[in-house]
Amino acid sequence: MNNPEFGENKGSLTDIEGFLIDLDGVLYTGTQPVTGAREVLRVLERRGYPYRFMSNSTRRCRASIAEKLHQMGFSIKPSLIITPAIAAANSLKDKGKESCMLISTGDVYRDFEDAGIYMRDPFTNTVVMADAGDAFTYGTLTDAFRLLLAGADLIALEKDRFWMGREGLMLSAGPYVVALEFASGKESSLIGKPSPEFFLQGVRELGLDCRQVAMIGDDITSDIGGAQGCGIHGILVKTGKYRKEEVQRSTIQPYLILDSIANLPEYLRRSR
Ligand SMILES: [Mg+2]
Repeated sequence: MNNPEFGENKGSLTDIEGFLIDLDGVLYTGTQPVTGAREVLRVLERRGYPYRFMSNSTRRCRASIAEKLHQMGFSIKPSLIITPAIAAANSLKDKGKESCMLISTGDVYRDFEDAGIYMRDPFTNTVVMADAGDAFTYGTLTDAFRLLLAGADLIALEKDRFWMGREGLMLSAGPYVVALEFASGKESSLIGKPSPEFFLQGVRELGLDCRQVAMIGDDITSDIGGAQGCGIHGILVKTGKYRKEEVQRSTIQPYLILDSIANLPEYLRRSR
């Protein structure tokens, strides 16, 4: 075993029956797969552990995420990938809603269309905001603002302040969501990590209880803190955005810290 570091529970994974797995920083970084990650997915399959992928990506539909993974050598069914767009589309459908105004870029709109959510209803009562980049225009935000004043709900697929692009820091959806909250006096509901409902959707799909599930992620706050807030075991990996200083500063104690997802099989129940 490679120097295991346990959180305060000093436990093992013998009670774990299924996994939620973050994508960026866990299976790959940039366009490079994490060494050994593909093999781990095969081990989980062989040993009958169900899993779902939990990604906070709001620019791509799940089919296009699966395609990107395929190019890196991962063969993953789109239906195993849960994103904030998937969670939002399912939640709208469950509430009997048939339309929304989606502010987004890329092909994420396809996940809403696949769920039967119509996007050209000018009188819709739901505004959904993704990380829309250049699509955050004055006209679009004003249309959304008017819908909110007329009684629409505001759903944020993410509320990050910024992200690191190729040419430097870029504004994320958060500042625009806050602008619409400020103007309309309405609060948004956040779907996606670290909101409990997002993790619970993954747990439900696994058909397990939270305490039987572990979430593997590289973000101490949104992956580990979010999952552990629902009673899911958090496994932090030291790949991707992991920074030792950030983990030391954080009040969040992961259940287990691994060098990489490649080390996971060492902790699985032997008899399975
Ligand atoms: Mg990540």
